[in-house]
Amino acid sequence: MKEAAERAAALREALAVSPDNAPLRRLLARALFEAGAAAEAAREWEWLLERDPGDAEARAGRERCREALAVPAEEEEAAAAPRGRVLRLVEGGRQGAARPRPPRLTFADVGGMEELKEELGRRIVDPFRRPELYRAYGRRAGGGMLLFGPPGCGKTYVAQATAGEAGVPIVVVAIEEILDLYVGESEKHLAAIFAEARRLAPAVLFFDEVDALGASRQQARQPHERRLISQLLVELDGAAADNAGVLVLGATNSLWHVDPALRRPGRFDRTIFVPPPDAAARQAILGLALRGKPVGEDLDLGHWARLTEGFSGADLTALVEEATDRAMQEALAGGKVCPLSRRHFAAARETVQPSTTEWFETARRYAKYANEAGTYDPVLAYLSRQSGRPGRRR
Ligand code: ADP
Repeated sequence: MKEAAERAAALREALAVSPDNAPLRRLLARALFEAGAAAEAAREWEWLLERDPGDAEARAGRERCREALAVPAEEEEAAAAPRGRVLRLVEGGRQGAARPRPPRLTFADVGGMEELKEELGRRIVDPFRRPELYRAYGRRAGGGMLLFGPPGCGKTYVAQATAGEAGVPIVVVAIEEILDLYVGESEKHLAAIFAEARRLAPAVLFFDEVDALGASRQQARQPHERRLISQLLVELDGAAADNAGVLVLGATNSLWHVDPALRRPGRFDRTIFVPPPDAAARQAILGLALRGKPVGEDLDLGHWARLTEGFSGADLTALVEEATDRAMQEALAGGKVCPLSRRHFAAARETVQPSTTEWFETARRYAKYANEAGTYDPVLAYLSRQSGRPGRRR
């Protein structure tokens, strides 16, 4: 712990010279937490989240700090008032606030993925933007859609950008977190979350990890989990109240584990495939990951975007971190800042492999044996486009 505190002090000094250096701040946040300074660590994670609301490590880090700081009070509160822990939801990309903030991401922040943006624009953004036109044809904004695809490829990010593009607030809920609540609490919280989204309507209500309520785990499923599904169905069906103006988006890496009851008409009845980032998106993600770092002139991001087919957002971030480690080692050895350059990326590329290949192997199996209603057709179309591309590297 003492060692972590010393590291934190050294990192603070370094940050005083280079305050916008996100990797340093990340190291500082980790060291502070390790040293037991959760409140200070939370501030550093907060800074990283301001910079990138989709930064999963920062989000988890801040949550851990909050838990470290607030567990006893929060649990007392939950016991006294059933709504106490509703405050754990993530809103507008930020966790823990009681009120959603306007989302800050828009389609302009989503690199590439033109086809997906077009589809989301047509299906989600337009009905929110032009409600009168939709009403004239007897349609209205709202309903439920499920985003699926390999992990780390932008489902959460794109959902936030979609809400931002439509100019409506988004309430983000992690199913795993609701499941972690005490027996009986989960359903109440779910009801409260829906009530809040209806109050805010027009709004997007986003459920992450919908497969956590998986049908394939039927045997193991606790009554607790079953009750939560029933409650979710009641809320989705609008049996509890009118869901007009509430678009319910879900995300899953494992569509095949999603309870079929959740995919019936009026629920998450439409599915949208979120593929791995294309070259333009990869270039944007690399650019984001490199923000605040010293970059050499020979680093051509377009080149690295082309060489990273099949990489998820998380893989690309890992690649940049790996290259950063190498540049930093050189800087430490040489005693002066060493910009990230082509050779660091070349060495890093040898060690970081695309993680989406495995997902596609599983998805391909489901596409072959369980492609009712053509659910996996977009996956197959994507795969056949990829295999037709020259020079692909997997
Ligand atoms: P998922 O929800 O699919 O697991 P995330 O939405 O958390 O994945 O995406 C991981 C990260 O990758 C995001 O935080 C974001 O920074 C980055 N990312 C993914 N796709 C894009 C994109 N098209 N443009 C810019 N950044 C992206």
